[in-house]
Amino acid sequence: MVKKIKKVRIVPGCISCGSCESICPSVFIVTDVARVIESADPNVETELVREAADMCPVSVIQVDDEE
Ligand code: SF4
Repeated sequence: MVKKIKKVRIVPGCISCGSCESICPSVFIVTDVARVIESADPNVETELVREAADMCPVSVIQVDDEE
């Protein structure tokens, strides 16, 4: 079973490459830096959120799992 996500956050250091928004635009938006869309439910597209975190070139997307 896929582990549910408790929280997604972006720590300082984003280089605004746009990758996270390309992979999962329902959760990430990139303007000056990347942000997590407040109203987004990361568990609707859990795998894409994890993929975006894995693909971030500077590893600033942190995904906390539910216990
Ligand atoms: S993938 Fe990482 S570096 Fe690129 S825009 Fe998203 S958070 Fe920023």
